[in-house]
Amino acid sequence: MPESSDHRRSIPSVEKVLQALHSSTLPRPVLTKLAREELARFRSSESIPSADDVIQTIRLRVDAFSRSKIRRVINGTGVVLHTNLGRAPLSDRAVRAMVENAVHYNNLEYDLETGLRGGRASYLEHNLALLSGAEAATVVNNCAAALILVLKHFTRSRPEVIVSRGELVQIGGGFRIPEILEASGARLREVGTTNRTVAADYVPAINDATGLILRVHRGNFHMEGFVESPHVADLSKIAKQFHIPLVEDIGSGAVTNIHAASVMEDEPTPAEVLGEGADMVCFSGDKLLGGPQAGIIAGSRDAVSRLKQEPLYRALRCDKLILSALQATVDSHLERTDQNDPSQEELPVLRLIRTSVDELNRRGVELLEKLRDLPGELHLGTAQSQVGGGTLPKTRLPSVALGICPRAPLTLETLSLRLRQSDPAIVGYVEHNVFKIDLRTVFPSQDEDLVKSLRETMATDRAERISAKVQSKSGS
Ligand SMILES: *Cc1c(COP(=O)(O)O)cnc(C)c1O
Repeated sequence: MPESSDHRRSIPSVEKVLQALHSSTLPRPVLTKLAREELARFRSSESIPSADDVIQTIRLRVDAFSRSKIRRVINGTGVVLHTNLGRAPLSDRAVRAMVENAVHYNNLEYDLETGLRGGRASYLEHNLALLSGAEAATVVNNCAAALILVLKHFTRSRPEVIVSRGELVQIGGGFRIPEILEASGARLREVGTTNRTVAADYVPAINDATGLILRVHRGNFHMEGFVESPHVADLSKIAKQFHIPLVEDIGSGAVTNIHAASVMEDEPTPAEVLGEGADMVCFSGDKLLGGPQAGIIAGSRDAVSRLKQEPLYRALRCDKLILSALQATVDSHLERTDQNDPSQEELPVLRLIRTSVDELNRRGVELLEKLRDLPGELHLGTAQSQVGGGTLPKTRLPSVALGICPRAPLTLETLSLRLRQSDPAIVGYVEHNVFKIDLRTVFPSQDEDLVKSLRETMATDRAERISAKVQSKSGS
């Protein structure tokens, strides 16, 4: 115990704090740790507030920590594949498959025909290969892992990997092609220039140490002007001539025709890239494929089976939950027949991308109606959604946003913060001094929650203003 003095005695005990925080849902050891840390901070500080203020400060810390738990968020950013918000939301079907196989035993690695050990997720691998237009396919933790596995395998005896200088890109936080290459132990051999690389540039770089030609899809930015990059077909001719494997990291995993949704850019599909002569492709499971986080590798039967024998494969493989969700997602793609009815689309990512502006407007008008009596100004405006997740950088999907101009003293910053703190949390964006919620990325089933959170947040403000007034009166 620290030496006691008058003011030190006013610091409440841990038990007292825990009693005051009994309604918190945090596990008791966590509460105890947070309380101890805060109390220690108060003890070592110069001036010590009243016991009530100490408890209130601890309560705020505990509440903020509780809210940091991974939980539901209403995505009002208009970015469909938002990496910070968990990328692709899963389909009901994927979630059902996941839960079903999670709570029961399953045939993950068991062949029910023979009663012997079977291939891991062989149904999924079979269907994934079909969807990718490949002989074979397999799955690892994410696309970065897929790339590392591929690099590791093909550079075992020949360490050099040829990459165009125009493709030495960074994708999202901490994913840089040169660093991934280094991590896999491969040696980078750069060819061409940042803006122009042609197939002929690769030929002089090929030598006895060349293990692989790697192409990386520049998914998250767009170059215009004096720009050229080699076609897969041309590169493939060179690769075949010198017996060097050609692998493309296509990143986004668009397997379906997304042009229906006013998407103007060309996103290569695995089948196209393989059809043009690449030996292998890898892409993400949770981008345009609309499934769980995963990295898919598709290519020749021989190459895929050799990759699966790598010791590293064992460390990068996915668990039954991911494989179950991915299995359902892949079947959704394979079963798609009517490309034009977005309401029948099973995969949320594609449904969100294809929602019409008319439909968004209709929901917007309904929302406004339900929020009419709130203080501040609310209106509907046009917005531009993005696909995100390092895909289709030029594409803007016309959309509708709910705009909120808070009334003083509520500021935009405070409004944004309170909405992030509400349950479910709402994440929007500020543009031209208006807080906006793009309705494209809000599920229709969340409209009620949106209304509830907005009401609570803006009404809380009223309550707090009143209590602030009362306090300043009683204080004077
Ligand atoms: C997104 C992306 C990656 C990283 O994918 P993860 O699944 O997040 O590891 C790699 N390469 C490209 C081209 C990408 O677009």
